[in-house]
Amino acid sequence: MIDLSEGPDCPICQTPGQGPLMSLAFRRKVHLPDQTRLYACRDCDLAFSWPRDPDSYKRHYGQVANDFTTGVETFRNLEQLERLSRVIARRGLRRILDFGCGGGGLVSGLAGRHPDADFVGYDVNGGFPPASANLAFTQTLPEGAFDLVILSHVLEHAPDPVGMVRHIESRLQPRHLYVETPDPQGYASRDQPQHLYYVDRLHINHFGLNSLTRTLGGGYGLVEYGRYDMPYEVGPVYPAQYALFTVAQRDVEGSLMDYLADQARRAATLRTRIEDQRFYIYGFGDNFFRNRSPSGPLAGLDANILGVIDRNIEALRTELPESWAAVHPNDLGSINGKLIVCTVTQSGGLAALFAALCPDSEVIHL
Ligand SMILES: [Zn+2]
Repeated sequence: MIDLSEGPDCPICQTPGQGPLMSLAFRRKVHLPDQTRLYACRDCDLAFSWPRDPDSYKRHYGQVANDFTTGVETFRNLEQLERLSRVIARRGLRRILDFGCGGGGLVSGLAGRHPDADFVGYDVNGGFPPASANLAFTQTLPEGAFDLVILSHVLEHAPDPVGMVRHIESRLQPRHLYVETPDPQGYASRDQPQHLYYVDRLHINHFGLNSLTRTLGGGYGLVEYGRYDMPYEVGPVYPAQYALFTVAQRDVEGSLMDYLADQARRAATLRTRIEDQRFYIYGFGDNFFRNRSPSGPLAGLDANILGVIDRNIEALRTELPESWAAVHPNDLGSINGKLIVCTVTQSGGLAALFAALCPDSEVIHL
């Protein structure tokens, strides 16, 4: 029988424990506690269960893979895959480690989408899918610098989250950390049939953004945060939160420099798709001119432009160089088959217009 009378200190900020909020009972199981209590720390905005024996939990996870989703074929969290894929592309990340990769579904999916980047899946439990040219799996944490370390649904399981992150920082020197955990603020509104579904003895930390940020220490600044309903075995109903951190606190100038660098990379990618072709421009507004600015994807490509398509084309005609054709959207059929570079905000109506009037045209959105 474990003595539960003493309230523990917060595992994140060490403030003496408050509570408990409630007691929980579980069936006896080797390595895991069969009685726990749930505590809250108002200081850093965390709820956590106690007791927790780090060695016992380590032995448990060494034997039991938490996520049986193996390989990309059965990976269900496409929203997370898209989000991380965007981060990797926009920030030009090349060395990526998925810490606690489980069955390797996420890291396999990312490796398939980014053949120019190198990926490592790490987990204490084996059972990995096949490796590939740019993807390795290991049960031993590597050493060396990584552009991005992913902690997807790991920290809520960690008996010592702060120690885990310190270890990652010292060993992997990540430039970016992507952290995803359940979102306690969504539990009450995403009801599940099982009693107390969201509080078990495996999810032992329930983070708010403040406690998540404090877990990382002072060396990182938050650049992206969001909440979503994660696809899970019972459907897309598991409330989750994600946060992307980057080294150093970002002031406004630093954040703008990040943004400009991201935009320059994106512009360069778009430019390589169009610079050897001739095309029509859809939209002759501010977006077109911004794309023509020195860092933009259309800079210096005036000679590639065959003409402009715009709803106000009659009024704009005098502003166009003589060599550019002037096309009203209703006359798109006359340029069917030609490449169209679209500078206006994407909308369903526009896609339908292209499909109806110039189905043989490739449309690239800037
Ligand atoms: Zn705390």
